[in-house]
Amino acid sequence: MEQTLVILKPSAIERGLAGEIISRIQKKGLIITAMKMMQLDEAILREHYAHLVEKPFFPHIVATMTSAPVICMVLKGIDAVAVFRQMTGPTNGRKALPGTLRGDFCMSGSANIVHASDSVENAEIEIRRFFKPEEVLDYTPKNLGFLYAEDEL
Ligand code: ADP
Repeated sequence: MEQTLVILKPSAIERGLAGEIISRIQKKGLIITAMKMMQLDEAILREHYAHLVEKPFFPHIVATMTSAPVICMVLKGIDAVAVFRQMTGPTNGRKALPGTLRGDFCMSGSANIVHASDSVENAEIEIRRFFKPEEVLDYTPKNLGFLYAEDEL
């Protein structure tokens, strides 16, 4: 099954939204195989947001993403990357549709509560960036037959 990396950003932690977001992930049927609370620093953010390092707002990203701890998670499921990107909604919370995490819980294109990997390839790289291999569990729930049809597995 596909894996994706999720970060509950400081804007989610500070606003007490972690439980609500985790609850939605579980209700959807995405399988959590790793989770840890971390304090990020500039070095890991320079790697993680390498595509944005030259942008004028990059110092703001570093300031906000290091302003409080984050919760990192690995989710597993069929098409997990696309499914969780869809649940997350577009970057700007004001443009995200109701029903998405950003659409329901934020008003910002910066303090936008969650990070979601944008491709299968990047998900693998990002998971390796935030987790040691042994921290990602080989866990599959017993009720898999209620999450998927046999011919989907
Ligand atoms: P996404 O998180 O939706 O995949 P990007 O990879 O483009 O979006 O951007 C990464 C993060 O950088 C965004 O989630 C947001 O927190 C921050 N960011 C993006 N654009 C801006 C901006 N113009 N001003 C401030 N922060 C931004």
